Amino acid sequence: MTTPVYQNFINGDFLKNQSGETFAVKNPATDEVIYHVEVADSFVQNAAIESAKQGFAVWSAIAPIERSRILLKAVALLRERNDLLAKIEVLDTGKPWQEAECVDVQTGADVIEYFAGLAPAQVGQQQMVGEDFYYTRKEPLGICAGIGAWNYPLQIACWKSGPALAAGNALIFKPSEETPLGAIKLAEIFTEAGVPAGVFNVVQGAAEVGQWLTHSPDIEKVSFTGEVGTGKKVVASAAGTLKDVTMELGGKSPLLVFEDADISQAVSAAMLGNFYTQGEICTNCTRIYVHKSVYQQFIDELKTRTEQNIVAGDPLDPSVNFGALISKNHHNLVMGYIEKGINEGATLLTGGKALRPESAPNGYFVAPTVFTDCTDDMTIVKEEIFGPVMSVLVFEDEDDVIRRANDTHLGLAAGVFTKDIKRAHRVIHQMQAGICWINSYGNSPAEMPVGGYKQSGIGRENGIETLDHYTQTKSIYVGMTDIESPF
Ligand code: NDP
Repeated sequence: MTTPVYQNFINGDFLKNQSGETFAVKNPATDEVIYHVEVADSFVQNAAIESAKQGFAVWSAIAPIERSRILLKAVALLRERNDLLAKIEVLDTGKPWQEAECVDVQTGADVIEYFAGLAPAQVGQQQMVGEDFYYTRKEPLGICAGIGAWNYPLQIACWKSGPALAAGNALIFKPSEETPLGAIKLAEIFTEAGVPAGVFNVVQGAAEVGQWLTHSPDIEKVSFTGEVGTGKKVVASAAGTLKDVTMELGGKSPLLVFEDADISQAVSAAMLGNFYTQGEICTNCTRIYVHKSVYQQFIDELKTRTEQNIVAGDPLDPSVNFGALISKNHHNLVMGYIEKGINEGATLLTGGKALRPESAPNGYFVAPTVFTDCTDDMTIVKEEIFGPVMSVLVFEDEDDVIRRANDTHLGLAAGVFTKDIKRAHRVIHQMQAGICWINSYGNSPAEMPVGGYKQSGIGRENGIETLDHYTQTKSIYVGMTDIESPF
């Protein structure tokens, strides 16, 4: 059976590459190749830059309120095509339909809608300086690049293009080579909605294509989502041309469960924050610190619910709530961490093995895994695993658990469960993390800025402040009086 071959999306249309080089994309739930994609060779790369230059000239000259109207048409098309797009995400990522159908497309559309609304609301300042005055303009940066991870491919493309385009920039987006189709569909939607050619281009390929974006002297900014190690390379490379950067990187986030917490709610949060999207979420609370007095109750309920309520299998089956990991390599990596957990002395409460569900026997499934009796120095407690592996730790003292929770070079997210309102805020204010939840976990609405402290990131996505990351301020001084010159 022949599979489709997708080309790069440049200047409002598909563009054939000259090298003829392609790569294969597999469905993680079946291990089968589902389509091929052409690599962005130097011909395509040059065309992307040229079209983005032209696209930028046209788009940045359009009144913000008109840009807003066009983007809102794209939002309507995204929502109209929800099921089609959600299916693409399920086949590319291995995540359950149950999630993709109500989260991936909708949270992407929400963010474009949010920034479309803000586009005409951006204003500069004006201030008198004696009889003279100055005013400022918020101007777009020019051509921006977006580089995405594979866990929420369409959502990431929307989260980057929403503010970039609303502010009047052109964007060249490179999705992960594991999940390239969602961004192409978004490009088609933007074009159909009336976004001018060249404003949103999609280039395909692996690290080399990403590297080219970070080097290119024509690109003013790189917004990157991915691993900490890759993020460091991107920043180093972007420094060569002093590009602006936004970095959305990994985490090893703590969830603190105090003795007065609603334990069932805390277990729900722990399960969501470790097993949703089969554990492939950057903000996951993979270190769960539970107060000693409620520890047994917590792990008893956690074990029961994990063993009874998780349904792994064909991700397209609406009753399945737990999918396959992205690739064989990643599966091996996660299994390697589980082995380390066992070897370093953690107790396996449940899971700890690969799964072969009847409806998807060739998929890269790993059972939802919980380790107890964990200590702070274990590899599984220190390193991001990006799979369904939860580490549970015990604590007794508030100050001590805050110190332990912060004892990491990462700082993406944190959560606390307690009914004591003062403690909730006192504790969360001391967390060294950019995204925090009190008696909740994981929600990330368009209105709320997200991003990491420490090595988890630079800059923010979503929320009003993100527009500042896609604009630059021009100050204009206006002389109303004669110049006094000593010359
Ligand atoms: P990677 O860092 O491996 O890849 C991210 C993207 O960068 C991919 O498109 C990749 O291409 C590309 N890339 C790889 N090397 C380079 C390079 N040298 N220069 C430029 N681009 C490059 O991350 P994953 O795709 O494995 O995603 C998982 C990671 O993403 C986790 O650490 C997770 O925590 C993080 N993440 C963070 C989020 C946040 O908002 N903070 C959200 C989601 C994920 P290719 O893959 O095609 O080779």
